[in-house]
Amino acid sequence: MTTEQAQLPNPHRVVIVGAGFGGLEATFRLAGAPVAITLVDRRNHHLFQPLLYQVATASLATSEIAWPIRYLLRDRAEVTTLFATVNGVDAANKRVLLDDGDTLPYDTLILATGAFHAYFGHDEWEPFAPGLKTLEDATTLRRRILVAFERAERETDPARRAALLTFVIVGAGPTGVELAGTIAELARDTLPPDFRNIDTQHARVVLIEAGPRVLAGFADDLSAYAQRSLESLGVEVVLGKPVTECSADGVMYGGEQLAAKTLIWAAGVRASPAAEWLNAPADRAGRLQVNPDLTVPGHPDIFAIGDTVAIADTDGKPVPGIAPAAKQQGRYVADTIKARLRGETLPPFHYKNSGSLA
Ligand SMILES: Cc1cc2nc3c(=O)[nH]c(=O)nc-3n(C[C@H](O)[C@H](O)[C@H](O)COP(=O)(O)OP(=O)(O)OC[C@H]3O[C@@H](n4cnc5c(N)ncnc54)[C@H](O)[C@@H]3O)c2cc1C
Repeated sequence: MTTEQAQLPNPHRVVIVGAGFGGLEATFRLAGAPVAITLVDRRNHHLFQPLLYQVATASLATSEIAWPIRYLLRDRAEVTTLFATVNGVDAANKRVLLDDGDTLPYDTLILATGAFHAYFGHDEWEPFAPGLKTLEDATTLRRRILVAFERAERETDPARRAALLTFVIVGAGPTGVELAGTIAELARDTLPPDFRNIDTQHARVVLIEAGPRVLAGFADDLSAYAQRSLESLGVEVVLGKPVTECSADGVMYGGEQLAAKTLIWAAGVRASPAAEWLNAPADRAGRLQVNPDLTVPGHPDIFAIGDTVAIADTDGKPVPGIAPAAKQQGRYVADTIKARLRGETLPPFHYKNSGSLA
């Protein structure tokens, strides 16, 4: 913050909820603007979610993919970082509601609360098939995967040992594909010399997908290439078979039961409840349907960005729920706020597609 900004009597108050890719980028981009920012997150760290699978498979340490939000913004005196959970918005009185009863007044609000994994109405499967969204999820999965090998080393019953050495990943999007490939590499290349009673190369890694191909968001030839690469690592790819049951004993799919002690859910996401907070229109995944300038319909002072929104680009195609899209939206909203403070208006948001990677 410049000395002039610090001395502003009533700076424009911007509250940003969520310090993920979108919220943090908006905060960075507002540097130098005549605003006072409150950045709220229920976690104290910004998380690089694309590398969570490497923590889950013991290739990276947690500290390599997470950074304290406070530390990232320590040189920005106009930014106040709050560790708190938002559970509503009182738009009539321009206040954000926190779950401990506190409220935060705003002039402009940015909702950047992301998405979470969803079990298509089967939340009871979560304890058996955890998803991968947070640092805690990654360390839980890492523990389960490594402990399964440890238990298999001491197990004498062949059926129980086989179940311990069977790893099932549900959902063959980028996360499922990355996890399946990395667990296969762990079993095939990394672990064999460490064990005496089991051959970890005989571990089964089964990737189950309800749709007809892996990486459905990619071109057909890339899907086929990814499937061949997985199979060359020893991953069993099962397509066109929705999972109908997850339990402590394994999974049921296509009418068959597969005994497995480690299940991982990578099959679906649901948006944060931002749309519910504002009673705003949402799609089937709960994503808030924003205006072309990323404002919430009926609330020109509230923006929503990233995985918690659904928006079509100028060509009519949906903007994907990926980090670059959230960052571009964060920058666009920051630029819009700066333009408004100058009395100007920007053209609608346009997504620049630089490609996808898995
Ligand atoms: C395992 C995994 C792998 C991925 N791989 C890739 C990839 O390879 N490439 C890619 O581009 N994208 C990838 N993505 C998607 C990418 O991470 C998201 O698109 C991106 O994080 C969206 O940014 P966001 O700002 O909308 O939400 P997020 O980055 O999820 O940030 C949301 C923030 O809001 C906070 N929050 C949520 N609710 C509240 C609340 N009620 N109160 C306070 N704070 C709250 C959260 O703690 C979080 O910090 C991956 C995602 C996952 C889960």
